Amino acid sequence: MAKLFIPGPIDVSKETYCAMSRPMIGHRGAEFEALYASTQPMLKQLAGTTRPVFLSTSSAWGVMEASLKNLCAKKVLNLCCGAFSDKWFSVAQSMGLEAGKVQAEWGEAIPPEAVKAKLEEGGYDLVTLIHNETSTGVMNDLEGIARVVKSFPGVLLVVDSVSSFSAVPVAMDELGIDVLLAGVQKALALPPGLTVFACSEAAIERAKTMPDRGYYFDFIEFAKNAEKNNTPSTPAISLIFGLQHILGEIEKEGMGNRFARHSANNAMIHQWGARHGFKNFAPEGNRSVSLTCFHTPAGFDQSGFIKTLKSKHGFLINGGYGKIKGLTFRISNMGNETRETMQELIDAMDDVLG
Ligand SMILES: *Cc1c(COP(=O)(O)O)cnc(C)c1O
Repeated sequence: MAKLFIPGPIDVSKETYCAMSRPMIGHRGAEFEALYASTQPMLKQLAGTTRPVFLSTSSAWGVMEASLKNLCAKKVLNLCCGAFSDKWFSVAQSMGLEAGKVQAEWGEAIPPEAVKAKLEEGGYDLVTLIHNETSTGVMNDLEGIARVVKSFPGVLLVVDSVSSFSAVPVAMDELGIDVLLAGVQKALALPPGLTVFACSEAAIERAKTMPDRGYYFDFIEFAKNAEKNNTPSTPAISLIFGLQHILGEIEKEGMGNRFARHSANNAMIHQWGARHGFKNFAPEGNRSVSLTCFHTPAGFDQSGFIKTLKSKHGFLINGGYGKIKGLTFRISNMGNETRETMQELIDAMDDVLG
């Protein structure tokens, strides 16, 4: 089986799998509450919040959809610049919500001024932003956009940090983010099935006023249960064992060292690309540090390259996502990768390119 350098799910360490194979425990009891509580300090630090961080047994889309359900009373503004952010707009429409969008070209970042212009039209009470658009390798200007949104009272900001959480600092409280969410199979290097998310007080207050929230994804249920270090329904306990392990590793490494390691590993891939004449799909200044998206040059046998890399060296990279499949390819450096493991990948890619 190939080692994953695709931008999610990513490679999971043996130690994480070991932690996940601990015997099962019941979730309504002291043992689970201790497990849950143990995840909180580091999750809060990573999110830059003093708010509780909830554990949702779902992939990220569960909480992305729930954010609309719990928080959009009037109209949502979806900031779109790639496959995931564009889809958030179509999900809002599929829920029958009133939705507007700011659409940037794929490969471009969302201009904060465009968000301002759109919000000035009025009528919006919610904005969705994908911090790191995994399909294009673009990292949006979270600070700039948050500042704009915060200048419109009554407009809440939901931020998807799926592929940036724990790779770069995120300052939820300082920036006034109302919901911050991250699926664990990307930057946190766990198997899929769990999403961590935090809600501001304003988000909880808004949710309380919303009718028809249902149960499984009701933010108020999450908040009530979090007070007892618990979840509304039976959680993916094995994944939480894995989460506890990873958070311990992050604590040992130190958050600052982890951020620096991601930048350095990402720079190695940029240098590799430059050496081969591969152009970055994302613009300078808005490039992700957890993955790299390259243009596929004309005449380059991209699928042959990816196939041989897998069959000869056992490494899997990705051949592009959504409407830029084939036109781009992506390499992840999320999770536990080191200078050495990135070098192994680079040597293998060099070998295949000949
Ligand atoms: C992968 C990804 C998602 C979707 O996550 P699922 O686990 O498939 O629900 C959402 N947002 C971003 C930025 C992603 O990279």
